[in-house]
Amino acid sequence: MTDTKKLPQLQAVKGMNDILPPESARWEWLEAKMRSVLQRYGYQNVRTPIVEPTALFVRGIGEVTDIVEKEMYAFEDRADKHGQAEHLALRPEMTAGVVRAMIEHSFLRDGGRRLYYFGAMFRREKPQKGRYRQFHQMGIEALGFHGPDVDAEVILLASRLLAELGLKAGEHVELELNCLGQPDERRAHREALIQHLEAHKELLDEDGLRRMYSNPLRVLDTKNPALQAMADAAPKLLDFLGDASRAHFDGVRAILDAAGIAYRINPRLVRGLDYYNLTVFEWVTDKLGSQGTVCGGGRYDGLIEQLGGKSTPAVGFGMGFERMLLLLEAVGLLPAEPVPDAYAIVPSAVQLPRIMIALEQLRAAGVAVVMHPGQSSMKSQFKKADGSGARYALIFGDEELAQCQVAVKPLRDAAAAQTLRSLDSVSSWAPDLLNA
Ligand code: ATP
Ligand code: MG
Repeated sequence: MTDTKKLPQLQAVKGMNDILPPESARWEWLEAKMRSVLQRYGYQNVRTPIVEPTALFVRGIGEVTDIVEKEMYAFEDRADKHGQAEHLALRPEMTAGVVRAMIEHSFLRDGGRRLYYFGAMFRREKPQKGRYRQFHQMGIEALGFHGPDVDAEVILLASRLLAELGLKAGEHVELELNCLGQPDERRAHREALIQHLEAHKELLDEDGLRRMYSNPLRVLDTKNPALQAMADAAPKLLDFLGDASRAHFDGVRAILDAAGIAYRINPRLVRGLDYYNLTVFEWVTDKLGSQGTVCGGGRYDGLIEQLGGKSTPAVGFGMGFERMLLLLEAVGLLPAEPVPDAYAIVPSAVQLPRIMIALEQLRAAGVAVVMHPGQSSMKSQFKKADGSGARYALIFGDEELAQCQVAVKPLRDAAAAQTLRSLDSVSSWAPDLLNA
């Protein structure tokens, strides 16, 4: 046998976090808020595998991106019996996987789909506050719809969610909007941009020089302060848009304006992934340092065809769970920890079956009641009851039980008196224990 004492303590992988109580309750709360909004817009849930063929992300996200070049957890699987090994990757985002699934299952044949997901994503970034190697997103994808109405609807959905979480536009978060046009417009802009970058070559770092020709737009998507002035003076894509792109952008803006959604046009907003066209947007906050993007998305009409499907328009966004919770915490909008309605104090085990049936009747009536496990002194049971945050202690003492009763003691209201309740009619008084 191995001596376990000599083994080093095992730890979670760097940049990957355990989500434990009481924090996990906040995750559930946020998820429930999200589901409630998603359901009101007719979105349906999809769950796709965490592991996908590496090629899906290379084709879907683009070879010349930080994600694919540096951040993806990609590996070769064990060889099968023919000696063939698959190249697999942990998903760094979920849009490509959702699109793959829609193509694979012919889900885009008749009409469009509005889909949402929750899930863990993996990127080998430098871990810091708001940036992790395993992080979690809620995302939506509206597939099969061309019009600016759906772009606007997606933005309205995110706005409603933020508002229902208590976040105020202008105070806690800001919406930034841009239009990336279509591939031919981007090409014309790209030519002009490369000329501009060539004229400022001396400012560029190694990555910048390499990407100047392969992906010049990405050179501007930089957090490097030395490049800001050069990036600010670069030719603007908005000036290269044709009538159709302009009309699409105007269409989105007209709806947002009518709905009273405030936004700022940011011509530098290009997003980290290659596949976007027309509308792109981000919700940013100044409360989280350089991890300030809490939600980002846009239109990606070319992706489905690029992944082997029939050309289909698409728009969506991804929202980071960790950043959203950090933001809500920073501005004091997290809910109080959930507490049980009641805590059951069990002085003796003799009548346990009887007691546990009463507790079951309470739970059947919707009461959250935690039973003190095992035997311990009344003092320590009361201490636990108090610490649980429950509003009532249910005391199943021998005397009460002999009368077929339980004592109900209010724990948070010193003025309220202890009462005796009958165990023969639990369902009649159970509602009194629920939060008013
Ligand atoms: P950033 O510019 O901050 O790196 P991104 O553009 O790479 O963000 P997306 O790929 O659009 O992010 O993902 C959508 C959302 O997921 C982001 O807005 C953010 O809230 C969250 N997110 C992205 N990467 C991480 C990460 N490494 N850790 C935590 N959250 C993340
Ligand atoms: Mg990133």
